Amino acid sequence: MPRPSFLDEIETHSGVTVSVCYQCCRCTNGCPVAGDMEIVPHRVMGYILSGEREKVLASTSPWKCLQCATCSLRCPNGIDVARVFETLRQISLASGLAAKNDIAHFDDLIIDSVERHGRFAELETIMRYRLSKRQFLKDAAMGLDMVRKGRLGLSSHNIRGRKELGTIIRRMRGHQDR
Ligand code: SF4
Ligand code: SF4
Repeated sequence: MPRPSFLDEIETHSGVTVSVCYQCCRCTNGCPVAGDMEIVPHRVMGYILSGEREKVLASTSPWKCLQCATCSLRCPNGIDVARVFETLRQISLASGLAAKNDIAHFDDLIIDSVERHGRFAELETIMRYRLSKRQFLKDAAMGLDMVRKGRLGLSSHNIRGRKELGTIIRRMRGHQDR
């Protein structure tokens, strides 16, 4: 059977040899968020092996990954699973498949905020997210309560060096073809 091109794509981008995975599940058993993932880590690896490109790239699993690297440390074959998940995020953004995914969309707005302010402006980002989803009043009561308690700032402060940081972020985004 020929090697799936998706497997080649992931191995080339990540520098990780996924093909030695023998589906032992140790990565999934150690993952702190596996219970919340649409496709658990060892199955993600399995789908890469069998070339299920769209299924993996459109899933929310890469976006739920915390990059804690427990999976990479536990893998008996030395597969850097965390690096593979990071690569999946980059490819799903570049291929446009992440656009179907709310977590990726919110993540994108956070990076936007850091590009403009040098930091994550929480309230502004949450409002932009809700507006883009046309959910104008969702969580408004909770947000007001958090503002009242000082847990959420009303203004967005800019840090020194934000222009330089913005240049780095734009370069990274260009690298991801967005
Ligand atoms: S721990 Fe390694 S070999 Fe086992 S399923 Fe996960 S990636 Fe594959
Ligand atoms: S790096 Fe991601 S996939 Fe791996 S154990 Fe941590 S959260 Fe799970």
